[in-house]
Amino acid sequence: MAFNYQRVIKDNYIMREEIYNNNVNTENGDKSENKDQQYFSDDALEKFMNTWNPRYKEKVNNIEKKNYIDCDKDKELGAENSEYFNSYNYIHIHEDMIKDEVRTRTYYNAIRKNEHLIKDKIVLDVGCGTGILSFFAAKSGAKHVYSIDKSDIIYTAVKIRDANNLTDKITFIKGLAEEIELPVDKVDIIISEWMGYCLLFENMLDTVLYCRDKWLKKGGLIFPDKAYMYIAGIEDSLYREEKFDCWKNCYGLNFTPILPILKEEVVIDYVDRNFIVTDTSCILDLDLNTCTKDNLSFVS
Ligand code: SAH
Repeated sequence: MAFNYQRVIKDNYIMREEIYNNNVNTENGDKSENKDQQYFSDDALEKFMNTWNPRYKEKVNNIEKKNYIDCDKDKELGAENSEYFNSYNYIHIHEDMIKDEVRTRTYYNAIRKNEHLIKDKIVLDVGCGTGILSFFAAKSGAKHVYSIDKSDIIYTAVKIRDANNLTDKITFIKGLAEEIELPVDKVDIIISEWMGYCLLFENMLDTVLYCRDKWLKKGGLIFPDKAYMYIAGIEDSLYREEKFDCWKNCYGLNFTPILPILKEEVVIDYVDRNFIVTDTSCILDLDLNTCTKDNLSFVS
């Protein structure tokens, strides 16, 4: 994070610096001379950003280190990947997911109402985020839950775990699932919420399949174990009007050259079922117990 701000002139931040108790020093420690030349050193800037940044200021303290394993490699992720994981650093995306009642309640029911499957089992939560699915599994009597996430949200997950007296039941592991070491050879159950837009966007299912092949013991369970993608055609004249026809007269100007671009764009939105004007067809049917990465690239 800090490195995006390499040439921030210190003066711009002097007020904030004071507010945050002079936590940040200049590169040469001299505050009076050559103000224009005073930039944060990487180190000072990182300290500053860690103080100022409203994300997860506090990492994992010594007490919380119990059942926390840091497997995060220092190496730089590619731009696309670091953008992806950074988006999960922030609380809002997790808030949205947890408050998505259909999503979270479905997992709650699948895990809490299947205690007989989970009791005394070793569970792996792939991409645990705030740890919510791990907590459901622990509450359902799992012997131990191993919970992996690359994003900084895992620091908060540790705190939630401890606030719920589940410290002994859950081990959080920070790092890429593809790179971490698990303290056990095999697990009995994998749980994960990997679905993105249009089911496969995010490519996270690849990670789940990787974990399945590496750690799930023969005959083990994977939650969920089925995934389907459906397609249907819609007709919504009101939407078309709002989205496209309005450009014919935009403050008295012809803005229609914008249309080809708009028509290319994918729109993610809710659709009233009354607007569906075709049959609904299943174009992808995945059995997560057996499918492979190759099944995820498909033409229908
Ligand atoms: N299980 C949580 C979060 C789901 S979002 C819940 O249901 O609310 C997916 C999470 O998976 C994100 O926090 C993201 O950082 C993590 N993730 C995705 N790919 C990963 C990978 N390859 N290794 C580690 N974590 C990953």
